[in-house]
Amino acid sequence: MVVRTAFSIDVVAEADADVVTIAGVVDENADLSPLLRLGARPIRVHLRGVRRINSFGVRSWMDAIRHVPITAKLSFVHCPPPVVDQCNMVSGFLGHGALDSFYAPMTCAECDEQLDQLFETEVCRANGAKLPLTPCPRCGRPMEVDDLEDQYLLFVRDSM
Ligand SMILES: [Zn+2]
Repeated sequence: MVVRTAFSIDVVAEADADVVTIAGVVDENADLSPLLRLGARPIRVHLRGVRRINSFGVRSWMDAIRHVPITAKLSFVHCPPPVVDQCNMVSGFLGHGALDSFYAPMTCAECDEQLDQLFETEVCRANGAKLPLTPCPRCGRPMEVDDLEDQYLLFVRDSM
């Protein structure tokens, strides 16, 4: 597997929304200006490939997000742990946007299997701000977040 560290941002106009795909490391060199040219249509930001966000990156990220017109429906999907961590630590990290889906690092206490599992925020919200039961693909036992679940899901409770 190739681990991408270089920053990249791509915008594709799909039928229902402008889809922005961001990957790599978000730091002082990350050019987020393509976000500033959007806003006429719904915006869906795909963040699966984001590896890390440093403090300079947080600043320019929040600058860019704040400039997305409030009238534009803004959603974030496939948010990996580095993005979820920022959402939990930095208030207003997603501007007026909603975090619709995210990955959680899961581990199995029984057989040590580890994987990043995709979850829908709405499903967790309906489940009392808890992850739905996730059976281990290897042994079938329920998996747990490789982190404190309460802490990892702070952003879900904040949006309830
Ligand atoms: Zn297992």
